[in-house]
Amino acid sequence: MQTIAERLRSALSRIDSATANANRPPKSVKLLAVSKTKPVSDIRQAYAAGQRLFGENYVQEGVEKIIDLQDLPDIEWHLIGPLQSNKTRVVAEHFQWVQSVDREKIARRLNNQRPPSLPPLNVCVQLNIDDEASKSGLSPEELPAMIDAISNMDNLVLRGLMAIPKADVSAQHQQQTLTQLHDLFEHYRTKLSNFDTLSVGMSGDTEAAIANGSTMVRIGSAIFGARQ
Ligand SMILES: *Cc1c(COP(=O)(O)O)cnc(C)c1O
Repeated sequence: MQTIAERLRSALSRIDSATANANRPPKSVKLLAVSKTKPVSDIRQAYAAGQRLFGENYVQEGVEKIIDLQDLPDIEWHLIGPLQSNKTRVVAEHFQWVQSVDREKIARRLNNQRPPSLPPLNVCVQLNIDDEASKSGLSPEELPAMIDAISNMDNLVLRGLMAIPKADVSAQHQQQTLTQLHDLFEHYRTKLSNFDTLSVGMSGDTEAAIANGSTMVRIGSAIFGARQ
């Protein structure tokens, strides 16, 4: 059986190849290691192998791990799962990033609840790009108002967009979705100074996402093994 360090190396080399094939600069795509449901001992192994960015889906589980792993310097925690308003305070107090902001109310609470002792919280707006009822996220039409609102919040830094494109679609549909995301991202990147992140691509669509401008891919089971 492969170790976490070996699987991490494979994921990174897959990202490097896809980046080179897309004629993009080396290291222009980051890897977010999605550690949901996995024990902190697994995260320590990935950290020891050099990984620094970790993604969690569930607030309570994520916060417990963050507290448990406080001894690891320069680790960076991203919330990538749905966030309810009654959980914003503990998120604002512990995470460095929230990629799943999809309502102004959530952004406002995170902004108000970010402790002054911490640097501003990095956020991405989550788009529901395939208009799936089962997924959270804003429609592209709702994006401009949301971006305006967050731009005026002093304790948040608007870093970019996050999306989870539908998995079982035709290559043509997939390409349309990724092109639309890329265009939206580039539109705002030229206007906003810290807007540098397009979080799209998972195990199944890493290459396609990187060919279409992704700057961060989120990979879980290919690094940590299948979840229960
Ligand atoms: C779970 C999850 C991932 C990683 O999925 P894997 O299939 O384990 O690679 C990526 N992004 C989001 C939003 C997730 O919830």
